[in-house]
Amino acid sequence: MALPIVAVVGRPNVGKSTFVNRIAQADEAIVHEMRGVTRDRSYHIADWNGVPFKLIDTGGIEMGDDDAFQSSIRTQAFAGVNEADVIVFIVDGRTGINADDEEVARVLRKTSKPVYLVVNKMDNPDTMDQVWEFYQLGLGDPWSVSSLHGNGTGDLLDAVVEDLKKVETADDEEEEDGGINIAIIGRPNAGKSSLTNRLTSDDRSIVSNVAGTTRDAIDTVIEHDGQRYTIVDTAGLRQKSKIDEDVEYYGFVRAMRAIDRADVAILVIDGSIGLTDQDQRVAGFAADRQCAMVIVLNKWDLVEGPDAKAEVREKITDRMTFVGYAPVVATCALTGKSVHRIWEAVDVAYENFCKSIPTNQLNVWLGEIREGGHTVSKGKAILRMKYVTQTATCPPQFTFFVNRPDLVNDNYERFLENRLRKSFDLTGTPIRMKFKKKD
Ligand code: GDP
Ligand code: GDP
Repeated sequence: MALPIVAVVGRPNVGKSTFVNRIAQADEAIVHEMRGVTRDRSYHIADWNGVPFKLIDTGGIEMGDDDAFQSSIRTQAFAGVNEADVIVFIVDGRTGINADDEEVARVLRKTSKPVYLVVNKMDNPDTMDQVWEFYQLGLGDPWSVSSLHGNGTGDLLDAVVEDLKKVETADDEEEEDGGINIAIIGRPNAGKSSLTNRLTSDDRSIVSNVAGTTRDAIDTVIEHDGQRYTIVDTAGLRQKSKIDEDVEYYGFVRAMRAIDRADVAILVIDGSIGLTDQDQRVAGFAADRQCAMVIVLNKWDLVEGPDAKAEVREKITDRMTFVGYAPVVATCALTGKSVHRIWEAVDVAYENFCKSIPTNQLNVWLGEIREGGHTVSKGKAILRMKYVTQTATCPPQFTFFVNRPDLVNDNYERFLENRLRKSFDLTGTPIRMKFKKKD
């Protein structure tokens, strides 16, 4: 079910984010709002002609405060080549080719993946002559567009989407049943590899290592208490490539890809450091993608005393409200202490992720909400909820039939979500709510 990825690469100021924003806004692209987290401009889910895909503005990814990483043009290009299905390479039609463009082109010429060379800022059709210069980059015919005004972007997307359709069919053929898909994500050094090794420590538990959909990803299929799990893109068991070690940014794009293929994301936080902005951001991506989630507070052995422990936990409760449903498990990967609790938490999260709540139970619940009298109004109009039913699973989606969907606001949605979670066990899973008009 992984969405195909389109990576947008290019040096700063050529118009990458303008391009991305134009596409994300076009054709009702779906961009989820995440509560409590600033939207990162670099990751969007878009849709063109009914083909959904993920758009990454590789230049826009900024790592957390404590990362020494500086966005480098070469790395971007590498990340694009490794992680994307289609690469959009943007150059500036006004300034012409420069050394950075040539650097990126050198990397992109070696890939067998489709590369679109896009000459941006061609606002004026009379200046089309300028695009010829870009043939020198050795990447085929340049596409001339103006991201600002939208000229040419439609034709380009038509072509991109044709390529993506081929990718999707290729992926579908590879799929096999590996049970629950898990992505282990988190900051460097949090203990992801140590945990992975623990979770797979019983030799017999490993069923197989299979190559994932990305060229150098390794998925590990394991069996635990009769349940099959696939750890997607096993960071710890794979031989790390040079770029991988050098560049955390690359790891980040890779984590997104893993999240994309996961049912449950295990977010590993270094307990000895406590919650960081980067943890929040990664959690935001998983929430955005609507995975179930388990939060692991690792290196718990290094957190001394009940006060310090309580403080770490409190910060998570306070600052991770947008994934408030995720259970928190404290572990020590070094000794293996409490690591087994991760399995229990993953099982619960997955069960709830796939849960179906019968319509009659939901409507008994709705009756109680109505009796409670808490509703929203505007002027004389009052929201009345008639009926609710679950319309999807993985994660559960509930559709409410109401007289005035326009009256529903964030606060009210939160209220309903809290009440649903009180009445039904939805630990570990996000939920979606829709409101439809019915008189
Ligand atoms: P990024 O650094 O590659 O993400 O570039 P931005 O999207 O931030 O754009 C850099 C500058 O170029 C901004 O001032 C944009 O308004 C401008 N820009 C982007 N696309 C176009 C375009 O198609 N035509 C013109 N004239 N300006 C553009
Ligand atoms: P990764 O980069 O997230 O894969 O992190 P690693 O698994 O490579 O761990 C980073 C470092 O933290 C290693 O030196 C581990 O031995 C150490 N480490 C991992 N888990 C624990 C833990 O629970 N307690 C302590 N004290 N150290 C740990």
